[in-house]
Amino acid sequence: MELKIFTPGHGFFMDSLIMYGLVSAFPQDVKYHVSGTAGFFEIEIEGETLQEVANFLAGDIEMYLENIIEHLVNNLRVVQKGSQKRLKSYLDSHKNPDAIAESFEKNYMLPGHAQREGRYYKGQHVWLPFYPHIGKYFAGEYRYLPVNYGVCPTCVTLAALGFYKATIPIRYMPPKSASHIILLSFEGEISGEILARMLTFIRGDALTELINKLRPAADSLPVSTLTYVLLTRFTSSLIRDLYESKAIWSALSTTFDVIRGQVVQIRGYDNVSIDRYLSSLVFLMRTDEKYNIDPLKRLGEITEDLIRKKETAATEALYKFMNTRSYMDLYVAVRQIIKALGEGPGKIFCEELACLTQLT
Ligand SMILES: [Zn+2]
Repeated sequence: MELKIFTPGHGFFMDSLIMYGLVSAFPQDVKYHVSGTAGFFEIEIEGETLQEVANFLAGDIEMYLENIIEHLVNNLRVVQKGSQKRLKSYLDSHKNPDAIAESFEKNYMLPGHAQREGRYYKGQHVWLPFYPHIGKYFAGEYRYLPVNYGVCPTCVTLAALGFYKATIPIRYMPPKSASHIILLSFEGEISGEILARMLTFIRGDALTELINKLRPAADSLPVSTLTYVLLTRFTSSLIRDLYESKAIWSALSTTFDVIRGQVVQIRGYDNVSIDRYLSSLVFLMRTDEKYNIDPLKRLGEITEDLIRKKETAATEALYKFMNTRSYMDLYVAVRQIIKALGEGPGKIFCEELACLTQLT
């Protein structure tokens, strides 16, 4: 018997957060898979009851409650201090598994919960970090949202948990208080096993170490390039699994700025397809199997060299080529890399990159 849970349909970004919030609470031995279509997700769980899922979730919220608040309010400051009490009260009320089960029974067992929320619903006005695409409709800077978009406490709670567990934040160096928030998501189908491994990797030391190296370049490199650099560090098996899965992957990225110490603004929101880039990485790995030259490692090292030397044009050119694989972009990338790093490792690597142009 499979248990089916549906995210509400509040849009790709918020539903991704809600989905990740939910599945990240499952213990390792829980078998599930997730399908994403048209902005919402269906989570099918084998052999667990709704009450058991509610227990996992309540336990996870209790465990991470303080960390979530610290992360959102104090570190990234994407939720204002004035909203901290309300955030805490929503999280607190979901430490009770019975309350979660009751809310899920009412809202999450069928698709379309969002139709009863949103523009004319008098619930909690959704906070910007959970619903950044609201900002897309406004040109330039804005401070107040003209329309209320109300959501229920369960949607807020799961989105907060998902934001904490699944987004990759790259904070600008002080005194700047902006951050890029990157969220990998998909349409299609993926197994719980792959999702769980991805979530573990995102919170692990290898990525955290790279994020710290990228911070000085946060305001000079486009967020799409930063995303590609992050993906280069993923383990080979994870890259392969994401690429070979029955899902189309994209990176949703938002740039938040905090002005006057607390007002959150959105500087940009973007949805970048990463499938073609993943296929370039997989092809480089296959080359590696043939010649044993570890091009992925070299790609990572050269990128770090370029970033350390603040060679942003060369970094951008390199990752542009990794996506287009066109001769013209290869030519530009090679020229820029050799100019920045000189002959030697740069030149050898560029020769290896040329193999990618054989792909269409
Ligand atoms: Zn809701």
